[in-house]
Amino acid sequence: MTGPPVTALITIDTWRLDHFSASHTPRLWALAGEGERFDSAWSPIGLTSPSHATMLTGLMPWEHGMEANNHHGYALSASIPRVMADDRWTDVAKGAFVSAYPAGPEGGIDVGFDVFDGPDAGERAGDETVGRAMAWLPDNQGAFLWVHVYEPHGPYEGTGASDVERYAEEVRKADTVLTPLVEHLVARGSTIVVAADHGEVLLEERCGRQHERSTSDHVLRVPMFRWTPDRPSQVYGGMTGLEAVPTLLKGGMPQPGAVRLAESGICEAGCSPGCRPEGVLGRDRILVKPSGARAVLRSGVIHTHGEITAAEVAALQAIPAVSAPGQPNLESLRQLGYSEP
Ligand SMILES: [Zn+2]
Repeated sequence: MTGPPVTALITIDTWRLDHFSASHTPRLWALAGEGERFDSAWSPIGLTSPSHATMLTGLMPWEHGMEANNHHGYALSASIPRVMADDRWTDVAKGAFVSAYPAGPEGGIDVGFDVFDGPDAGERAGDETVGRAMAWLPDNQGAFLWVHVYEPHGPYEGTGASDVERYAEEVRKADTVLTPLVEHLVARGSTIVVAADHGEVLLEERCGRQHERSTSDHVLRVPMFRWTPDRPSQVYGGMTGLEAVPTLLKGGMPQPGAVRLAESGICEAGCSPGCRPEGVLGRDRILVKPSGARAVLRSGVIHTHGEITAAEVAALQAIPAVSAPGQPNLESLRQLGYSEP
């Protein structure tokens, strides 16, 4: 006996959808095959703090206000309800075990957890995070658990000759370090929701390894699935996204969306120095349709590809602008090769 069921959210940072497969992530792919896999799941932004805030609140970044990482000074207000505040988890222990600072407590992601465990700075290995989570899980009662691993995020470690090869090694390592936790949660008959916060740019864009500025499919379209002991397996093809994570944790199903809305992040320290897109300190907003048609709002100008209606353009323009809580470090950005907008 390993204990009562747990409600668990497992997030893998920077995990591309094309690296979710039997060869890249064998344990998680097998688990998804027994569960409900969401084949058109989208992140609202290629940044760790805001994307996780969306998974914990069900709100888009421009709704919950944490539109960039915590080290830029962005925060998630304590007054915004988190999913684990739901009545069904009133009497269970709530623990979060994260592997990198942007998923950490700075900025208020920790509000609502009884235990929040992460590195004080930088990142730590996923097996340490998983080990701490498994040591914490109570064996005599249920729990609400969030575990975050960071292996696929750059810089990529491994023996491969290229970034592409080492990235694949890091994804495989994330699957390996999560396997003992997955086996434990399955044995307890738990509800398990697994998702990436965003994908990654490998070779597709001239900016190089820079998911935070991208609104491309390989950054915004992400792996997402749920496993429970009692629901039939299926592949769900409707457009949905990370804001559905609270619904999934509570046992519900998302409603398919007619369009997806998302936005780019702002530039991080460490953006590729050779990348100088127009308006690098601003944001792009994007609308994507199931057909693949899309509209991008950049610096006040709409760019469209495929069939986009006037109403869809209006929806994109209606996304509210949320002002930054502080000033970006312009001198630091200049040193990295960026110009002011
Ligand atoms: Zn991330």
